[in-house]
Amino acid sequence: MANLYLTHKCNRGCPFCFARKVLRESGGRVDELLTVDEVRRLLDRFQRELPAVGLLGGEPFLYPHLDELLALLKERKVGAKIFTSATNPLPAVLERMTPEQAKADRINFVVNLGTRDTYTDEKFANLDRFFRRFAPVSCLSYTIFDLNASASHLFDLIDEYGLQRAIRTGIALPILHGGNSYIALDDYKRASDYLVRVASEAASRQIVMSMDCGFIACMFTDEQLGHLQRCGGELNFSCGAAVDIGPGLQAWNCFPLFQVGRVDAMKASSLRELMDMLSAAVKAELGDACGVKPECHTCDLMRRHLCEGGCASFKSCQENISYPSQINS
Ligand code: SF4
Ligand code: SF4
Repeated sequence: MANLYLTHKCNRGCPFCFARKVLRESGGRVDELLTVDEVRRLLDRFQRELPAVGLLGGEPFLYPHLDELLALLKERKVGAKIFTSATNPLPAVLERMTPEQAKADRINFVVNLGTRDTYTDEKFANLDRFFRRFAPVSCLSYTIFDLNASASHLFDLIDEYGLQRAIRTGIALPILHGGNSYIALDDYKRASDYLVRVASEAASRQIVMSMDCGFIACMFTDEQLGHLQRCGGELNFSCGAAVDIGPGLQAWNCFPLFQVGRVDAMKASSLRELMDMLSAAVKAELGDACGVKPECHTCDLMRRHLCEGGCASFKSCQENISYPSQINS
């Protein structure tokens, strides 16, 4: 799978993101877009390896060519998973679409959700309208970054709108030079308690919390791991996201490594080769230390490929800022 990074534009301002700040400080142009023609060239090269793509940004609903892009993906029989905050008015192409058509075209949505106080009434009305239309083809995503926050509002919304009963759960990770909020490694134990507590509440409401990349096995006790499995979520201690491909067909490993080891996607003859090129580029810039902890290189779980040693973006932090003990902002 690959993600198409369509636009930097976003008006949501999640504290764990700050994409535009990163972009500005790296000298990039906030208004640049991945063009439909670039996507066409990409599919000409990699389509056999791309039964589906993720559409992200920025905010895909602010991408001005969404109509044309979805038509191209449909014509090429490529499914689309759209990552959105769903707080903007529906783009015209979605205004015309029913959930049944979305299903037939293999389009679904992952909606990044915050607490009610993070939405204006207008933004929440847009979200409400989106859910009323697309709930059957939508699931929520949630990023752990406030270890005191309740997650009950997610479960309430799933019940209220009939959303899919699975939540894609991430942990806020540092973005290179990003100045974003993230969970410091010193707080991973508290984060594990938090996830176990939230996953238990979710399970009691027949909702599964799945783990995105960046979690590490040793943040949990064996008992917690057993409990999480009983709650139904798959354990995941990998560092291996889908490749992101953005404007100019530049590719990068994943969002936190947005500025590290960019590669021209068209220099690869296959997606596999592109991923290898990106891994090599990241290693060249961040070194090949094998994990976020000194003990990773002798860890049996690492040796048996059960934990990949956490998020590589911590390597850039360790070099650049003093080690945080609290959530950073
Ligand atoms: S470096 Fe690895 S763990 Fe971190 S976001 Fe990228 S893929 Fe995920
Ligand atoms: S590989 Fe590193 S982060 Fe993962 S469990 Fe072992 S010591 Fe912990």
